[in-house]
Amino acid sequence: MKYMTGRIDTPQKIRFLKFIHSRESGVKPGEIAQNFGIRASTVTRSLHELGQAGYIRYDSYKMVFLTDAGKDLTRFLQRRHRILSLMFTRAGLSEHDACIQAEKIEHLVPKVHIDQICRSLGHPSRAACGVIDHDPLCCGV
Ligand SMILES: [Zn+2]
Ligand SMILES: [Zn+2]
Repeated sequence: MKYMTGRIDTPQKIRFLKFIHSRESGVKPGEIAQNFGIRASTVTRSLHELGQAGYIRYDSYKMVFLTDAGKDLTRFLQRRHRILSLMFTRAGLSEHDACIQAEKIEHLVPKVHIDQICRSLGHPSRAACGVIDHDPLCCGV
């Protein structure tokens, strides 16, 4: 996976990528603005940065899709969120609180540390909020 810069690894862009990922048939930028209740100009700027980094593309109808790199990145973002969330539930937080706290800090935790936590949790395959995709480089096949 490409190195994720601080400009890309922000809570807002993580939410955008997950939202685009959830819509296989593409998303209009206006839908993103509406879904998150933010200005269209803010969405445009973020999408521009995600496009520059190679994570999204537009079709001829101006619909937004993830590129293959964007899909890889989003799989990592989901794995990171769920591993942190599981770490919190194992430490005693409720599933709801674990999910919220993971969202607050996930953008600050690099992959190397996610892999360490994954190892310490026994390469889990499930967290409260969903399936944890195994990473061959961390968890084996
Ligand atoms: Zn969650
Ligand atoms: Zn692992």
